[in-house]
Amino acid sequence: SLARERILRPRSLQLRSKQQQWQDSPEGQKMVEFRKTLPAYKEKDALLKVISENQVIVVSGETGCGKTTQLPQYILESEIEAARGAACSIICTQPRRISAISVSERVAAERGEQIGESVGYKVRLEGMRGRDTRLLFCTTGVLLRRLLLDRSLKGVTHVVVDEIHERGMNEDFLLIVLKDLLPRRPDLKLILMSATLNAELFSSYFNGAPAMHIPGFTYPVRAHFLEDLLETTGYRLTAYNQIDDYGEEKTWKMQKQAQLKKRKSQISSAVEDALEAADFKGYNFRTRDSMSCWSPDSIGFNLIENVLCHIVKGERPGAVLVFMTGWDDINSVKNQLEAHPLLGDPNKVLLLACHGSMASSEQRLIFDRPPEGIRKIVLATNMAETSITINDVVFVVDCGKAKETSYDALNNTPCLLPSWISKAAARQRRGRAGRVMPGECYHLYPRCVYDAFADYQQPELLRTPLQSLCLQIKSLGLGSISEFLSRALQPPEALSVQNAVEYLKVIGALDDNENLTALGKNLSMLPVEPKLGKMLILGAIFNCLDPIMTVVAGLSVRDPFLMPFDKKDLAEIARSKFSGRDYSDHLTLVRAYNGWKDAERTQSGYEYCWKNFLSAQTLKAMDSMRKQFFFLLKEASLIDNIDSCSKLSHDDHLVRAIICAGLFPGICSVVNKEKSITLKTMEDGQVLLYSSSVNGNVPMIPFPWLVFNDKVKVNSVFLRDSTAISDSVLLLFGDKISSGGFDGHLKMLGGYLEFFMKPTLASTYLSLKRELDELIQN
Ligand code: ADP
Ligand code: MG
Repeated sequence: SLARERILRPRSLQLRSKQQQWQDSPEGQKMVEFRKTLPAYKEKDALLKVISENQVIVVSGETGCGKTTQLPQYILESEIEAARGAACSIICTQPRRISAISVSERVAAERGEQIGESVGYKVRLEGMRGRDTRLLFCTTGVLLRRLLLDRSLKGVTHVVVDEIHERGMNEDFLLIVLKDLLPRRPDLKLILMSATLNAELFSSYFNGAPAMHIPGFTYPVRAHFLEDLLETTGYRLTAYNQIDDYGEEKTWKMQKQAQLKKRKSQISSAVEDALEAADFKGYNFRTRDSMSCWSPDSIGFNLIENVLCHIVKGERPGAVLVFMTGWDDINSVKNQLEAHPLLGDPNKVLLLACHGSMASSEQRLIFDRPPEGIRKIVLATNMAETSITINDVVFVVDCGKAKETSYDALNNTPCLLPSWISKAAARQRRGRAGRVMPGECYHLYPRCVYDAFADYQQPELLRTPLQSLCLQIKSLGLGSISEFLSRALQPPEALSVQNAVEYLKVIGALDDNENLTALGKNLSMLPVEPKLGKMLILGAIFNCLDPIMTVVAGLSVRDPFLMPFDKKDLAEIARSKFSGRDYSDHLTLVRAYNGWKDAERTQSGYEYCWKNFLSAQTLKAMDSMRKQFFFLLKEASLIDNIDSCSKLSHDDHLVRAIICAGLFPGICSVVNKEKSITLKTMEDGQVLLYSSSVNGNVPMIPFPWLVFNDKVKVNSVFLRDSTAISDSVLLLFGDKISSGGFDGHLKMLGGYLEFFMKPTLASTYLSLKRELDELIQN
């Protein structure tokens, strides 16, 4: 190892002198000075000392104190200082792509380097790193996939897991794996970073690892709740005027009542009761809850519009950060604001959207300061809560909700609903306004609602389906799924685990003994949900990869069909033009995408999008995702050339069958009655279709079954994106033959299908089906 050090040394000295040169330049000096002003700087030596003396350490500190950009850099600098620069490899995980990219760019800039020199990033399907990269920012998913190939993380010296307070599923999972790895890699250092003070939980999980806190400084932020808004903005909701009459006493009573209700375990009912007590007639939260979206209704929009006008007309400079529930809301509100005489005036206002799945070049705009005299307004999801910092924000507008997946294990149904955020999240949102000067935060809900919020959000592991996770546990060879998950920080319910394992068995990713099958192994290599991975693999096997890649890209990015709030009818008509009367949202999507590709080649793609209510941005994102699928499938040696895998792309029947194979067991039966269609699934009974579905507005569906991508529970169970299929497709592609043999197989299918089969047909079917299953598995 001494010889090794001698060889490595010159490189590390090189790195060091280059840094010195940069730090001596005027720009570099400015950066060095800036870095010294961050609260983390004062703790630098103490932090490095604790890291050197312990294997695990938990670091907490206010957002913006310098955890993400500074701490990994301190480690890098001290390694270079100790002449270990060339031998160290620091990996810092981020929960989201955008933060991994923007943080790595920032750190490279702080070091006067290009990205890909000593600092790099790697996110799903995209990355920038070079031979000299020693500090790599990546998504948690990327590190998990690396563990798949190299279980002991050979060569890695430090793992920094950032934003652990968010309790994302991947992070919780990673912590179990790392906890197992630590005794086998005594030289590996683990640093956990959190924006909130609840470090004890993590510290005790890692056998009492030391916890360090970075004291931070933020300017005070004044909080305005809905009741205050009336006064501060001069804004009145007609039915809301009564609030003035309530007076202080009433407000106090409302608060007291809400506090009592807090004990209720269900936050929604507590909020509902509190609202009942508050009698917010003009501000009907309840109807809003039963709809799937929070803001783009008239009252919500009016409120936002008024608050923004109030800020923009005001004297105080500073950017505005608006927290919304999701992409749909952001788009819809942005469109409406663009039509506003003041807020839509590009000479006065720079309106930006900030969302995890937008292009990275666009994301960068958010960080730049706008030209003099122009107010920057950023509409963002809860992503802007902790992981990215927009420096010039002085005003925060908080709608109080975030779209959160929750999971109903009893009905085995994921629900994606805007739900009230936690107190911690509301505080965090507020804090974003106090970074450069004292700020203002407008919470668009009454204080009594805030009082009824939960203290913290539930960990994701406890509220989402666990299929991908279970597959990863198996492919990492981590033993029994339920045993492994029982070692989590907060283990998920047994029933959720069981549902996920059952699902993986049904789709053929696990065999009856819970061992990974060949299909399962391939699925775990693809960074998409198992069902989408299965579609890709089958698309490749059956030579119809082209449309299947489009379907999968559409399902993993988002629907490119726009549904503007005020032009829903026109949008639905535009969409139905692509439906081709074949009762499939997926094939409709393929046609729209192909039409766009043609338009791009010949005329203007934008014009095409405009005419057809399509999002050019989403189509472009799908396009690049398709390219990435191709590379991934190639990397996994599942295909060698796209043309041979797409020979049968025009065979809609085949494409339908592959869609069915992927989406099974997401299936419902179709019964056409006079003028109405009844849809039923085994688990939910009657279900409904979203009106945006091409199958949602037809008088009848001449197929016995629909396969669907997703079901969402919003009062009733709604299906999203469906494709109609025939009996034979369901029989051949819907399921694998279980170990119960043909009889067992029929019995299982019998649950879905009352299918009478002649004995002669049965043996033909059986051999066909066997052949098919073998093909899929091998
Ligand atoms: P933390 O991880 O503790 O929330 P960060 O390390 O992300 O803090 O940020 C520390 C400081 O660095 C921020 O307060 C901000 O002033 C500055 N900073 C971070 N990212 C950027 C950027 N992209 N552009 C300019 N300044 C930035
Ligand atoms: Mg951070």
